[in-house]
Amino acid sequence: TSSTKPPPTPSPLRFSKFFQSNMRILVTGGAGFIGSHLVDKLMENEKNEVIVVDNYFTGSKDNLKKWIGHPRFELIRHDVTEPLLVEVDQIYHLACPASPIFYKYNPVKTIKTNVIGTLNMLGLAKRVGARILLTSTSEVYGDPLIHPQTESYWGNVNPIGVRSCYDEGKRVAETLMFDYHRQHGIEIRIARIFNTYGPRMNIDDGRVVSNFIAQAIRNEALTVQAPGTQTRSFCFVSDMVDGLIRLMEGENTGPINIGNPGEFTMLELAETVKELINPGVEIKMVENTPDDPRQRKPDITKAKEVLGWEPKIKLRDGLPLMEEDFRVRLGVS
Ligand code: NAD
Ligand code: UDP
Ligand code: UDP
Repeated sequence: TSSTKPPPTPSPLRFSKFFQSNMRILVTGGAGFIGSHLVDKLMENEKNEVIVVDNYFTGSKDNLKKWIGHPRFELIRHDVTEPLLVEVDQIYHLACPASPIFYKYNPVKTIKTNVIGTLNMLGLAKRVGARILLTSTSEVYGDPLIHPQTESYWGNVNPIGVRSCYDEGKRVAETLMFDYHRQHGIEIRIARIFNTYGPRMNIDDGRVVSNFIAQAIRNEALTVQAPGTQTRSFCFVSDMVDGLIRLMEGENTGPINIGNPGEFTMLELAETVKELINPGVEIKMVENTPDDPRQRKPDITKAKEVLGWEPKIKLRDGLPLMEEDFRVRLGVS
């Protein structure tokens, strides 16, 4: 009977927790665009110790340079497809290339990162009793047949297309999260992130906002991929980071859409960048890539209700903040 069962042996983590109240937080992919902004925010809290693991595929130490050497910060070069042994209380699992040109560059590696990488982080979460948050994506909705997208929509995804390594990879990652939750009682959080932009995006990473801003600054034509009527909804990175932290700290497992519902066609985006950054620049239509979703806009009712979160920064206010950063990095004032 339960009264004769020996008490569970305290794990080293639980034991050390008894002596110190710091929260140890692992951020995978923390040298990347969203990850490094998340690290900045987490480091503001003096009770947080942050460990970043990253293989630097698309991220860079430069994004974290202000924290290197800080006593509450640690940076580890590590690939999440390999097992990882650390002792932490929370895991923000972001490691995965997010830009189509990078995730299509080595698709087998992308799906391994999503599947084996997430499995390893769940195994880690299970061993140490950590809460784990996955940054999933609006791509799980594929080319959506309902608009705007709610979390209850199961999506319209091509399982064998060139984007599948990413969107099917994230769908499996979500499945793994829920199976570990149901089977092992792991505390999980799933964010479905919609297109996010802001300072520190890779200048040549091929995503639309970074392309248009770099092109406008370099006085090169803005490349709108045909037909230009496809839509996206763009969230500024500081709003995204606030949403992710609220989700981690809250009680709801998700999945929860985190994004900005302001929806624009790619032609409208090009016109806006042109007006704000370089009124003289040309806009040209170029060929698109396969399986490009035709429309995308988050329904954020759940985030509002459950997290008390909604984005604050409008596209017109966010673009100039990103322009400033790009001008510095491109050396063009
Ligand atoms: P990013 O490419 O800037 O960052 C990803 C980071 O993960 C990089 O630092 C990269 O080096 C690292 N990484 C990749 N594979 C790894 C591996 N196998 N092991 C260890 N590290 C690895 O992308 P981001 O925009 O910051 O995206 C972060 C997360 O958010 C990703 O999981 C992405 O799928 C998700 N997301 C982003 C967006 C967006 O618009 N930016 C939209 C939806 C979802
Ligand atoms: N794992 C890890 N760090 C840990 C614990 C586990 O990287 O601290 C990896 C482990 O190598 C395995 C995966 O997580 O590949 C899943 O672990 P789990 O214990 O759930 O499954 P099992 O090892 O029984 O397959
Ligand atoms: N796009 C564009 N010009 C570019 C890059 C992208 O018009 O230089 C379009 C692309 O066809 C897609 C949208 O912008 O419809 C968003 O693409 P991105 O690669 O930024 O992100 P996605 O939402 O497809 O992951």
